[in-house]
This record gives sequence, C-alpha cells and structure tokens, in this order.
Amino acid sequence: MSTNTLPKLNILGIDVDKVNRAEAIRAFRGFMETGGTDMIVTPNPEIIMSAGKDAELRGILENASLVIPDGIGLVYASRILKDPLEERLTGVDFLSDILEMAAKEGWRVYLLGAKPGVAEAAKAKMEAVYPGLVICGTHDGYFKAEEEDELAKAIAETKPDFLCVAMGSPKQEKFVERHKDVLRVKAAMGVGGSLDVWAGTAKRAPEFYQKHGLEWLYRLIQEPSRIGRMMALPKFMLKVIFTK
Ligand code: UDP
Repeated sequence: MSTNTLPKLNILGIDVDKVNRAEAIRAFRGFMETGGTDMIVTPNPEIIMSAGKDAELRGILENASLVIPDGIGLVYASRILKDPLEERLTGVDFLSDILEMAAKEGWRVYLLGAKPGVAEAAKAKMEAVYPGLVICGTHDGYFKAEEEDELAKAIAETKPDFLCVAMGSPKQEKFVERHKDVLRVKAAMGVGGSLDVWAGTAKRAPEFYQKHGLEWLYRLIQEPSRIGRMMALPKFMLKVIFTK
C-alpha cells in the first residue's frame, strides 16, 4: 500500500487529497508498481457526513491511498474553509484515465456492480473505446452476504490488477476492505453509477450541468426519490460553516 505526499484539505475530520488529474494519474501508476491493495475513494458530502456515524467507513477513508474530491459540495466546502481545491476530479473521468492507462500497460481490469447485464455492456463499450483493454471479468452487484466470500475468490481467480466496484457508497468500499486479502488487486476504486453511464442505462448530466456543478440537480430530476439522501448536502454545508 502507498501513502501519498499530496497536500490535504481536512473537511469535517476527513483528509481529502488536493490532487489534480495529472497527479492522480501519477499516483495510480505508483499503485500498480507497489504491493498491497491501494484504495481510491471519491467521497461526496453524503459520505463525509456518514463517516461521522460509521466507524468502518471512517477507517476506510482514513486509510485510503487516494481521496479524490469528486462532488461539487467538497469544492464549495474548500472555498468556505479558505483553502480552495484547485480542480475537481470526478470519479467517472478518473475511471476513463485509468482504463486508458490499463489498455496501454496491459493492466487487467475487473468490473463488479450494477444490475445484471450492465457490467457486461460496460465491458463491451470500454473495450471498443480503448483497444487492447483487458476486462478479465464482470459480475453484477446484487448478491447475498453469504455469497461474498465465493465471489471474492472467483474475482481473484481472474487475476485483476484493478477492481472497479460500482455498488454505491459505502457498500462498494466495504466490500473491498473486507475481502482485500483474498482479492489481491493492486488498486480498487468505488465508482458509484459509472457502469450504468458506460452501459448507457443511465445518462451522464449534460455539459451545462457539469460546467455549473449542478450534476446533483440533474440526478434529482432523473430520480426524484433521491431527495432524502440529497438533504445531506445542505446539512454538510452548514456543518462546514459552523465548525470552521
Ligand atoms: N448497486 C449495486 N448493488 C446494490 C446497490 C446498488 O450494484 O446492492 C449499484 C446500482 O445498480 C448502481 C450503483 O450501484 O449502478 C449505485 O450508484 P449510485 O450512483 O447511486 O451510487 P452512490 O451515489 O450511492 O455512490
């Protein structure tokens, strides 16, 4: 496992790496060269709030090798804390960078998560976009707790270097943490709904929303039932302001 020397921004007790795209790519190359499993996490305000109540999640965030500021909420928080993040790096974009490197370097990728059929569809699209990419296996993200050990062994048998887990947070991160000794991947990253975007079963927010940091609004329009979860955002903002 690697520890990085990137500057950090502490948001409600969680250290986020002040990392730009090029630095994140460099860090990932380092993970492929060292032993142990390096965990990449992309926390949003909801996750940072949950970490306050969930010790397992908190431990995962504290021990992650790379903590990428994905959500726009973290960028706003950094401005409130008067230590602005230089750049926002989304998990979806960083995943594309990883796949591009993997195709060139021959690193094997396993896709775990999303509804049955989605990971296979994502694999086909990814292999078409990045010729030479080896996706060594796929599995959906809907399995029973008692099937986890067998699944981890089955994943390990395909010998992936990088495990891309798309089961939502914190489920995806906890799966890797609990099974990393069996999985023996060099790096793993939780990517939320990215496989749905690759497969075409979900659309990424149009550029206008991306440019203005309004992906959350687009998501809310698509899935109004997320409103309860999204209330974490204003609570997070207030907490950042009052604990400053
Ligand atoms: N998912 C899964 N297993 C589950 C629950 C969810 O594989 O038990 C998948 C779901 O199909 C979707 C992704 O996880 O592809 C959730 O993405 P979302 O963007 O909602 O993640 P979050 O915002 O919670 O990180």
